[in-house]
Amino acid sequence: DLQLYPDPCCLALRRAAAEYYGLEPDQVMAGNGSDENLFFALRAFCDEDHPLARPDVTYGCYGVWCDLMHIPQQIIPLEKDLTLDPARYHGLGVTIVIANPNAPTGLALPAAAIGEIAAANPNNVVIVDEAYVDFGAESCVPLIREHENLLVVQTFSKSRQMAGARLGFALGSPELIADLERVRNSLNPYNVNQMTQA
Ligand SMILES: *Cc1c(COP(=O)(O)O)cnc(C)c1O
Repeated sequence: DLQLYPDPCCLALRRAAAEYYGLEPDQVMAGNGSDENLFFALRAFCDEDHPLARPDVTYGCYGVWCDLMHIPQQIIPLEKDLTLDPARYHGLGVTIVIANPNAPTGLALPAAAIGEIAAANPNNVVIVDEAYVDFGAESCVPLIREHENLLVVQTFSKSRQMAGARLGFALGSPELIADLERVRNSLNPYNVNQMTQA
């Protein structure tokens, strides 16, 4: 079937992922790795007038994408022991991204602490990058039902050992996923190739 374009909706893949995560297919978007999904999320939920809050230190790409898209950054330092104090993220009023566990520290917050951050920023999107969650942290996926502003990003690249397949999922409320799909369909609707979808 490689003479054909892949299914731009990734329907079979999203149905399978939704079943795995206990979500509906309209709560799942497939991307060409987490990097693409995170880029789409910043494109959807930030711009020159809508900053991104993120820790320092953390995954380096967040800052690179902000620079590329002229998104102002609100950089929040880690504590002296490299832990992340969730209280610093309450009531920020801007889009937030947190890698949980954080990279490269490997230190994680309990899922409930992320839920409190989402509750304390009700009018903003809170993105949780769970690239390393399977190595020993609590996933925030079960909190998606309670917090419609929570976007969880997972990848096949680390614990699932398929970095070369380029596959990641963005998981959230149908409204957030619809916003992401609008960006994806405008930029790169065939982002997940036929072999990877299979
Ligand atoms: C590896 C990594 C990514 C990117 O993963 P891909 O799915 O391969 O694009 C994103 N965030 C963090 C924290 C990572 O370590």
